[in-house]
Amino acid sequence: MTFRTRFAPSPTGPLHLGHAYSAILAHDLATSENGQFLLRIEDIDRSRARPQWEDQIYDDLAWLGLRWPEPVMRQSVRQAVYDKALDNLWARGLLYPCTCNRKDIAAAASAPQEGAPMHGPDGIIYPGTCREKRQHISDDAQRRPTDVPLRLDMVAAGRALGTAGQPIARMGAFYEAGAGPNGETGTITFTLDEVTETIGDVVLSRRDMGTSYHLSVVLDDAAQDITHVVRGQDLFEATRIHVILQALLELPTPRYIHHRLIRDGAGKRLAKRDDARAIAKYRAEGVSAADIRAMVGL
Ligand code: GLU
Ligand code: ZN
Repeated sequence: MTFRTRFAPSPTGPLHLGHAYSAILAHDLATSENGQFLLRIEDIDRSRARPQWEDQIYDDLAWLGLRWPEPVMRQSVRQAVYDKALDNLWARGLLYPCTCNRKDIAAAASAPQEGAPMHGPDGIIYPGTCREKRQHISDDAQRRPTDVPLRLDMVAAGRALGTAGQPIARMGAFYEAGAGPNGETGTITFTLDEVTETIGDVVLSRRDMGTSYHLSVVLDDAAQDITHVVRGQDLFEATRIHVILQALLELPTPRYIHHRLIRDGAGKRLAKRDDARAIAKYRAEGVSAADIRAMVGL
């Protein structure tokens, strides 16, 4: 099996030390495995993506000494692929429209005496208000609505993946060749019930994007024949959603290599707004690519 990995930044701000670590690690692994390192621009969020950030990504990565094949995949031109997958899931009754706003979700998720609502990797765990409101008519008789967010019905997904009376078929698994935030490594298994409880019915199509990070990342990793996904530990929990989507869409599950996060002096993980640690800023100060490697411990 050829080793193929990718770095998939969103052009919504400058790349910082955390991105440099992720990209160099993926690139080095591909080199040592005689494999390929691909670049993908995750620009589905058109309200935040900017051409100048995309240009800066190419410039910074080349300056770091990384090389990748052209043309680079860009999510903004792949809506037809995302639509096709959404139509498929919709026709199978696995999606439902959700019109709740943030306030509705927070209110419904926090029962009067139970305090703060539960949070999962996608924010507040959706309490399923619109799943229950769903009309009892066959969904596949209708066209997929494109003007409302669509959520994945985890219970229906469990039914689609399992066989009645065989709950084991509802279990998912992936191979972690790196480590999760609590040292999880090797074969990671989970049940759909756990996902329903800890993550909930995720949004697969947003009103403003017509897709979502989870759906696009799964379709694009498959389209690029990615064998190993190298990315930060912050996405370890979300991997379970990706595995469920791969099973529903009959796509292969790559191996995952989640890596540690680069933190600032106070131990906080770097965010896009941490311009102070932007690669471009270090470059302007005369720091070398070798210095950047040393700074992130590579
Ligand atoms: N576009 C995502 C980010 O910048 C990367 C997601 C991934 O590697 O799966 O966080
Ligand atoms: Zn809703």
